[in-house]
Amino acid sequence: MFRAPEALSTPHGRAPARSSLFFTVFFLAFFFQAGAVTPAAAQSGGQITAARTWPAQDYTRITLESQEPLKYSVLNLKDPERLVLDLEDIEVTATLTGLAEKIGADDPYVKSMRVGRFKPGVIRVVFDLKSEIKPQVFTLAPVADYGHRLVLDLYPLEPPDPLLVFLDKLQAPREDAVDPAAGAGSKAPARSAPKRPDVARLIIVALDPGHGGEDPGALGRRGTHEKTVTLAIAQKLKARIDQEPNMRAVLTRDGDYYLPLQTRVEKAQRVRADLFVSIHADAFIRPHARGASVFALSEKGATSAAASWLANRENAADLIGGVNLQGKDRYLKMTLADLSLTAQINDSLKAGRAVLAELGGVNDLHKADVEQAGFAVLKAPDIPSILVETAFISNPDEELRLRSTAYQNKVAEAIFNGIKRYFAKNPPLARDRIALIP
Ligand SMILES: [Zn+2]
Repeated sequence: MFRAPEALSTPHGRAPARSSLFFTVFFLAFFFQAGAVTPAAAQSGGQITAARTWPAQDYTRITLESQEPLKYSVLNLKDPERLVLDLEDIEVTATLTGLAEKIGADDPYVKSMRVGRFKPGVIRVVFDLKSEIKPQVFTLAPVADYGHRLVLDLYPLEPPDPLLVFLDKLQAPREDAVDPAAGAGSKAPARSAPKRPDVARLIIVALDPGHGGEDPGALGRRGTHEKTVTLAIAQKLKARIDQEPNMRAVLTRDGDYYLPLQTRVEKAQRVRADLFVSIHADAFIRPHARGASVFALSEKGATSAAASWLANRENAADLIGGVNLQGKDRYLKMTLADLSLTAQINDSLKAGRAVLAELGGVNDLHKADVEQAGFAVLKAPDIPSILVETAFISNPDEELRLRSTAYQNKVAEAIFNGIKRYFAKNPPLARDRIALIP
């Protein structure tokens, strides 16, 4: 699985003369080095124990895992766009070269990947890119089941603005849209007039499928990942909300990749959501723990030890999912210490109770009332925010139900009914919203 790193200086498939010159130099260097110092095998050190890729429109993440911290350097090259990763004292194994096959044609940013020996003791990994990117490269210390991780996050130069993405989707004509202007004899194309909601105030609900990508969330005994269940339920809930003329839902993530907790909150704020609903599936050490529960934020300690335990576990998602702490300035934006969250929490409790009441119709309730704890993802000061634990994925019966489409639909419907009930009693105030509605 060795591929010549010829494209380090030229586009691949071209300039064979330069390639062979490169190899002559390469082998000479290799023999001098090997003869003068140590046998080549002695220079190989660690191994890549796992290699993963998480492609998404937001960013593509590539993770290399190893037992020892990796010694690396990174180069961003132009014409054509490439990201070059040099790894020291690493063996070339099938795990590393096999990453190339994991890069799908639909990856928004990475075209292909090649591995080659660059010089003695240094392996060069070249990622051929589809466009210019802004890389963030950082390491993560071992946590949970992971060893040392080297993370390459490939961001677009212009990150998609959640609000513009939302507005684009809102303005896009629906398949079933009927243009009222297109009467008999009219030549107006059917798709010319987007169908806009005929209401004075559009309610926007941000739905946040918990976990994703490197962070699978809780695991069921049958191997069900919380991140998969949460996304499935959130997508069904979004479809249900979008059927309402006066409501639209926005997903914080719509794929299998990790989003830092802070980014989830920021996305909801960017679209000026009227409600934030983070969707999860609980786990507990005791497999008989069961039932749905709903949480709101607490400013002063948790309402129970279990709620505190759960908040700590959910807040640890960033450690497992992997957040670049070098980019700290991005996260300083929201220093919440000075902001009172009392009003937000009051509204969140109302929304939470409405949702909990509906969930009681499809599942046992783990707790009869909304609990509170310091969940980081519920800290938008201006958006009522709740976290729904739909069921216990650690309970074998509930895991089975969580996997079924029928049950996912029931849960989505229940949360939807709760949301509707909440807004019926607490209509959002009119505000100087961007002119979404004519
Ligand atoms: Zn969770």
